[in-house]
Amino acid sequence: MLNVVIFGAPGSGKGTQSERLIDEYGLHHISTGEVLRDHISRGTELGHIADSYISKGQLIPDDLMVKVLAAVLDENPEKTAGGVIFDGFPRTVPQAEALKKMLADRGTKVHAVVGLEVPEDELVRRMLQRGKDTGRADDNLDTITNRLKVYHSQTSPLREYYINEGKYHAIDGSGEVDRIFNDIKSRLDGAK
Ligand code: AMP
Repeated sequence: MLNVVIFGAPGSGKGTQSERLIDEYGLHHISTGEVLRDHISRGTELGHIADSYISKGQLIPDDLMVKVLAAVLDENPEKTAGGVIFDGFPRTVPQAEALKKMLADRGTKVHAVVGLEVPEDELVRRMLQRGKDTGRADDNLDTITNRLKVYHSQTSPLREYYINEGKYHAIDGSGEVDRIFNDIKSRLDGAK
């Protein structure tokens, strides 16, 4: 079993690399952003709440987000048993603490954190392109600017947090998708 957190700024390639990792390691993918977007498109109560934060580029409050993740984990016990790739969670230190506890309660832990490190100008370029390609509503320049600010203030401290836990694997996340994937793979194979 291998539980991996894929970590990085918005636009760093977490979703793209997660898809490759699922194929390679047979992991179950949990993208909290996708879970929330699904609620928004179905018009659920959570979707309405989430939309009010996502459209401004803000984070959903920790207590709500932790409940959402716990529900996803408990919905799919057999799917998550072989290992999970956590994409977009945790995004704050309290979320990382909550994840640690949730996994400990289920007899497991985070085995490795893959940190995709990408220069800011490339992040912005990629998100603007994704906005054009997919119509994703929060990939517009105003929201992107705020998401990056939020990343620096609330999410980037997790890098230090996971370095201190001895779990952080820094990956150069700019350039070719295949080269990045091979770098991740060699780090994970070494961490297993
Ligand atoms: P993502 O698809 O991971 O880029 O997430 C899109 C948006 O969903 C983020 O900008 C946040 O508003 C919200 N979101 C996703 N995951 C989380 C999380 N773990 N904590 C708080 N907000 C989140």
